Amino acid sequence: MQYLKHEFFKSIVTEKISEFNGYSKSTQYLSEPADHPVELVDQAAVETDRRLFVELRKRQDNRLRELKDALERIENGTYGTCMECKEDIPVQRLMARPTTILCVGCQEAREKSHNLRSTVM
Ligand SMILES: [Zn+2]
Repeated sequence: MQYLKHEFFKSIVTEKISEFNGYSKSTQYLSEPADHPVELVDQAAVETDRRLFVELRKRQDNRLRELKDALERIENGTYGTCMECKEDIPVQRLMARPTTILCVGCQEAREKSHNLRSTVM
């Protein structure tokens, strides 16, 4: 990958990681239900909140890991190369999904095989 492209995506991914860190800070209050006066809180609502929080947290962790992986690939020079067919991933696709590791063709093939598997199961 050319140096300019490299720098460009590095700044995009780095920015997303810092955005992300700000965002997870803003959702931290969800982990502290003790702040609410207990007698006024519907127990079921608290449970739902907690489940949502866990789910959200899981998704955030995945997203952050993807971003960090992308940054790592930028550093070691493998960013923008499809993990399956080793072809260059088009810049437009990287712009839309900076953490993608597959070209459109391989992504579709993978989704198709996933679907196939889930209908069989
Ligand atoms: Zn591919």
